[in-house]
Amino acid sequence: MPESARLSASPASSASMPLEAPISVDPALQPRLVVTDLDGSLLDHHSYDFSPAAPWLARLKQMGVPVIPVTSKTRAELIPLREALGLTATPFIAENGAVIGLPPGWCHARLDRPGSGRDGVVIKHPGVDIGFIRARLKVWRERLNIRFTRMGELSVPEVMELTGLDAARARDARQREGSEPLLWQDTEAALEAFRVALEGDGLQLTQGGRFWHVMGLSADKGNAVEWLVKRFAALRGRTPLSLGLGDGPNDITMLEAVDQAVVIRGCHDLVVEPRNASLYRTEATGPTGWAEGVAYWWGRDDRRLATAVKGDAVFSESSSLSAAL
Ligand SMILES: [Mg+2]
Repeated sequence: MPESARLSASPASSASMPLEAPISVDPALQPRLVVTDLDGSLLDHHSYDFSPAAPWLARLKQMGVPVIPVTSKTRAELIPLREALGLTATPFIAENGAVIGLPPGWCHARLDRPGSGRDGVVIKHPGVDIGFIRARLKVWRERLNIRFTRMGELSVPEVMELTGLDAARARDARQREGSEPLLWQDTEAALEAFRVALEGDGLQLTQGGRFWHVMGLSADKGNAVEWLVKRFAALRGRTPLSLGLGDGPNDITMLEAVDQAVVIRGCHDLVVEPRNASLYRTEATGPTGWAEGVAYWWGRDDRRLATAVKGDAVFSESSSLSAAL
């Protein structure tokens, strides 16, 4: 069975799961979660600094609100960042939705095989195999006579030069599991023809900051976030209020999948127009904009959230979701 089928099937089976019984809970105490892009959002686009967001990160952690990184980065790139950000107890979404990582507290004995990786993290691949993507790219490049360069065809020094990453990070960026970045070197018209051809293969093109990303049609950030929200609800018995933050076109599906959305002012002129009635655009860029966006939606709720923690109605990261099973 393809992983995508398994993934989409699992929330449905939540009906048979033992759920927590929320008896007349104050709506103000609804559990919450945050999903966030990294580059240009939680992390400064150039320096990777996140200090302007650190006070909010600490407050959210204290309140037991999971902060989930949702990024175009690979799992290999994300692991050290996740540790630096103090987000090792929360899930992550890598490669624009093609890879989902679940820490033990978010796993379910009947749905997930035990994680073999570090920290017992279980990895899900909702998209298609990277080998299939590469094979189809080779076919379409020849058949359509188009020009592009896959990241895997670039040397480590070339990746370093294009991305500004050091050698170790550039190597991590080339470790793809479910999506392939490429540099487009042809016309807009050729790009359209390429997009149509890929769709016939069940693949899609997403625009990132520097690269175009090719991945499975169902493997975008929005689908991965919806899947995680359903997993949260299945384990906790309550649907969380979700807040999403991002700065790029590849964040649009994520920002349409959440209850409250923040478009962080970008260091680019790409159009980012998610369809979400609860949308806030920040004045500031990067992590300063991130803190501005969280404060816009939740700043005024701060006291109510703090009360919720005392009442033990907000999901606690340390006690983990598995406590609800
Ligand atoms: Mg970004």
